[in-house]
Order: sequence, then structure tokens, then C-alpha cells
Amino acid sequence: MDYQTHEVRDIDVLVIGGGIAATFAAIKAKEAGARRVVQVDKGTVGKTGNSCFAAGVIHVCFPEDDLDDRLMRLTRAEGYLAQQDLIQDHLQDSYPILEDMRRYGVRLVMNPDGTYGRMAGRGAYPVVMFYSTQLMDALRQHAQAIGVEQVNRLYVSELLAGNGEVSGAVGFHQYSGDFYVFRSRSTVLATGSTYYKGIHPGQRDCTADGFGMAYRIGATLCGGEQNDQPANAMPARVDVGPGMNKWMGEGAVFRNAKGERFMERYSPKLKERSGLPQIIAFFCIEARMGRAPILMDATHLGPENMERLYQMLPLPQREFESIGVVKDGKFQKLVEFCPTGPTTRPGVVVDRSYASRTARLFAAGEACSPSAVVTGLAAAATSGARAGASAARCAHDSNGIVGDNGLVGELRERAFGPLARAGGLEPDHVLLELQEAVIPYDVLLLREGSRMERALKRVETIRDQDLPMLGAYDLHYLRLCHEMRNLVLTAELQLKAAIQRTETRNILREDYPFTDNVNWLKWIMVRKEGDRQKWWTEDIPIERYPLAPKREVELAYLWRVPRDLGIVSIQDGRVQWEFEK
Ligand SMILES: Cc1cc2nc3c(=O)[nH]c(=O)nc-3n(C[C@H](O)[C@H](O)[C@H](O)COP(=O)(O)OP(=O)(O)OC[C@H]3O[C@@H](n4cnc5c(N)ncnc54)[C@H](O)[C@@H]3O)c2cc1C
Repeated sequence: MDYQTHEVRDIDVLVIGGGIAATFAAIKAKEAGARRVVQVDKGTVGKTGNSCFAAGVIHVCFPEDDLDDRLMRLTRAEGYLAQQDLIQDHLQDSYPILEDMRRYGVRLVMNPDGTYGRMAGRGAYPVVMFYSTQLMDALRQHAQAIGVEQVNRLYVSELLAGNGEVSGAVGFHQYSGDFYVFRSRSTVLATGSTYYKGIHPGQRDCTADGFGMAYRIGATLCGGEQNDQPANAMPARVDVGPGMNKWMGEGAVFRNAKGERFMERYSPKLKERSGLPQIIAFFCIEARMGRAPILMDATHLGPENMERLYQMLPLPQREFESIGVVKDGKFQKLVEFCPTGPTTRPGVVVDRSYASRTARLFAAGEACSPSAVVTGLAAAATSGARAGASAARCAHDSNGIVGDNGLVGELRERAFGPLARAGGLEPDHVLLELQEAVIPYDVLLLREGSRMERALKRVETIRDQDLPMLGAYDLHYLRLCHEMRNLVLTAELQLKAAIQRTETRNILREDYPFTDNVNWLKWIMVRKEGDRQKWWTEDIPIERYPLAPKREVELAYLWRVPRDLGIVSIQDGRVQWEFEK
């Protein structure tokens, strides 16, 4: 292969990713005085990942909001697995970050008197709204304006690390094929989450690359089995993704196949505005009872609701029009909904400065473990901002860029390996196999030990038999091959962690329906040591945090509701479905 190698030297802060966490990291590193900040994205900064598809709402803790109450809600949503000090920092930072966004040119929905126009969405607090893709466009442009160097279309394949320190990253350009070596004093990983390339927008770029890169250099990861949201829910048959928050905020409802508004039964107060763990759990229970499909009914929305929807969700609304779901300014048909692929984040473990446990490596946004960063634009932004500032300090304090022990040659070979097997297995073929193993709702959304063991065996077979045979005809396929490798590793880590957590916390588990606050206030950690995977648990320092649950074992809330409704009973410590008796 005659692709050239380019060295990009003397970088203070290297930021990997083009979403909101990465862009805030780059901006704040620059503001903190870092001289050379380079941001690398496998697509185009601001046009990739989840951030540019976000559905128009930002969850911000305003000075007049009750921060303690918001902390409690987020901590509970995380089943008390949250790093509460980081969540507190995030809530405190979220309003200043919103003001930053405005200063950087992001257009937000404002009241005539100049205050923020907050509106009801899913959740207990009103949300701030923005105008779709303009948000990331404005942030990208601001970063460029203050001197952040952005490199687009460059797929980062590995971190560069030696002697326990990270000294940059390597990857290939997807148009020229040239190999790039970025040498940096500090590095921020902001590569997002994954949903196994489900059908929805934003999911094709979120391919777990950061988890794979971090794992391979021996960084400590955690949280693959849990998340503050097990999945999102989106239209099933239309290529329309974001929007549930807004449709539900405007008054749309969910109905099951029998036409029943089932969320009223499960969650009488918040109904469709319940948290995602509740919505996903109750979707799954309805499906298990044979009452799928789940349908969104927005046919009763009036002109004012529709006007706001067109403002906030112009693309989804137009897509609905194009298939006749919306006509003459009204929803005419019900829309089938489903959970997206299961979300997972076996993310990088970070401390309060977003430093990982590996020297000179920081992480932000959904590349971090879910205990550190809750899902959403605001937390991705606040974590990015802190990570960027910390990385700038680290670069400033460092003596120079550490060597790579001659690794670059090996990493280059690894990067281009699949091109040597042009007749090998196509990555999309392997992707389908992986999706069949992990995406069905009764594997990772409605869990049970033996089902997950079966899925893990399939994943291990894919790992051992398919991955070594992956082949790439060209640079596009080369990227897909690397993404597959990271997705398969992530599925393995997620399933292994999920099998270990023998309880129901915010994801249903049929064989362990209890929440075990005696034995399971723990994080499940993993790290690569040589060729072996080291798994261990660490106690959550709950005594040091403001909020602690009672140290008891109790039937999980998500099972208590269906038990009280007579849908399930608990026998011999397991769930029994009444309709199966
Ligand atoms: C459809 C949808 C709608 C949503 N709506 C909302 C909403 O309305 N409000 C809200 O608060 N949250 C919303 N969310 C969640 C929110 O978008 C995410 O929490 C947030 O954007 C995460 O930001 P991030 O920067 O961590 O990751 P992302 O935005 O996913 O960015 C990851 C970046 O890493 C890059 N990358 C990955 N691997 C590599 C690699 N190997 N080399 C180089 N670059 C790489 C990707 O190209 C991408 O730019 C939504 C999510 C989805 C999927």
C-alpha cells in the first residue's frame, strides 16, 4: 500500500470526535490557553454522531430550579449508580454552558422579553429549545473562529500509548487513504455511544470506536450493563428519529395493539412523559404480552401544536408528510414506535476533572461511563467543557510528548489489515449477525440470564470466526471493518457485564426482579491486561454522596407496577407472567 504517512506534531490537546462533547472540549481547551488544539472527526465536525440529530430540546438546570431535586431525579434515573459529584457539577455548569452557546451563536427559542422560552417535554422540568442542526453548525464555526484546527473524514483507529501514558492517536483519511499520526501532550476522547447501528438517525456513526480504542490500550471502562436510558424509542417503520420529547410534550399518546393508552395504567402521573427507562420497560412488557405494535397517536393535536412541531422538528414532520401520515396540517394516521437498538456505554472511567485512569487521557460526553455523564446534549457539553479545560492544564504542565516505543508501524499495519483481504467477509454481513444477537427486545431490554448467555455465545463466535476474515475493497469498507471490530467487542463487554449484574435496577431482568442495594451498589469495571480481560467491581462511595437508597433488597419499581396490575407475580425469586399460567 503506498498511502503516505503524515505526522502532526506538537499538539497540546487532541480531541477525537465531532459532536457536542468534542466541540466544547476543543473550544474550552483553547479558551484555557492551549496553543494548538486539533479536533478530528471521522465525518465532518458538527455533522456527525448524535449531536447533530438531537431533537430540539436541552435539559438545563436554571438558577431558579431546585438543583437538589434535579440531582435526585438524575441519580434515581441512574438507579443510584451515578457519580453524584460529577452530576452535581454538570447541573451547576449547565446554565453557564447554555449562555456560552448563545454567545457562540446558537439560536435558542426565546420569549419576547428576552428570557428563555422553556416548554414542557418528557421529564419533570421544562426544556429549552433550539433550531435543529443550527446548534452544531454554530459550535463548529465558533471553534474554527477561535483557532481550533479541524480535521474531517479521518477515521481514528487507535490511541497511541506507551508506558501507561497516551501520546496521541493514529488513523487514516477516508478519501486519500493517508495514514496520520497525531502526537499530543493530552488527548480527549469524545467518540459517543453506540446502538449497534440501529435504524435511527445518528446511529451509524456511533460505533463504539472510543470504547474499543480505550480498551485496547488498557484504560479502565465501566457501566456497559447499565445506562440512564436503556434505549430510546422512535418510529419503527419510517426513517424518522428524534422527536419523542416534543411529540409527547405537545400531547401525543401511545396506544397498544388493542388501542389502549397503556402508559396511563403503568405511570398514572407522568404517563407518556415518564422517563425513558419506564417507557422502554412498559413497551417491552406490552410486547411480551402480545400487545405490540405500539403506536403513537397524535391525531388530536391542534394547529398551535403542529406549528411548534414544524418549527422544532422540521425534517421529521416533512418526512411524515411525504408518506401521508401528516396531511393538511394534521396527523392523519397512527405511527408505529419501537425501542431503538439497546444503548450501551462501556465507557471510560473518569474523575471530576474528566481524567481517565490512564495518564494524559481524558474523556467527555457519551464516551464516558454512564455513571459519570448522563445522556443528553447538556451533559455532553458540560463534560466536554471540563475535559477540554483539564486537558489544556495537563498539556501545560507536561514536560513534552512521550515516545510511542516504535508502535506506529504496528498500528499502521493493523489499520490497513482488512485491505489485504478484499475478498473477505463484508462488514455489513457481520453487522446483521451481531444485530440479530443483541437487538431483539428480549435480550438486553427485557433481560434473562440464559437468553443473554446464548447471545454472548453468538457474539463470541462472531468475534472468533468472522472478525479475522473481515475484508475491505476500499477505504469506506476499511472504516466499516474497524467499526465492526469495536461493535463486537462492545457487545461482548455489555453482555458480560449485564450477566454479572444479578438484579433489576433500571433495566428489567426476569430472573432477578429485585433491586439489591445491599450487594449491588457497585460499578462493574473491566480492563485489558496483556491478553486477558480483567473484571472486578468497585463499591460506590455512597456514604460520601448526598443521596443514598436504603440498604435493602426490594422488588424493583419497574416490576412492582406490573405486579400490582396483576400482569406478573414473583415466584421463587423469578418473574412469572400471569398470561402464561
Ligand atoms: C436521534 C437522537 C435524538 C436526540 N435528541 C436529543 C435532544 O433533543 N436533546 C438532548 O439533550 N439529547 C438528545 N439526544 C442525545 C444527545 O444527542 C447525545 O447525548 C449527545 O449528542 C452526545 O454527544 P457526544 O458528543 O457525546 O456524542 P456524538 O454527538 O454522538 O459524537 C460522537 C462523535 O465522535 C465521532 N467519532 C466516533 N468514532 C470516531 C473515530 N473512530 N474517529 C473519529 N471520530 C469518531 C463521530 O463522528 C461523532 O462526531 C438525542 C440522541 C439521538 C440519537
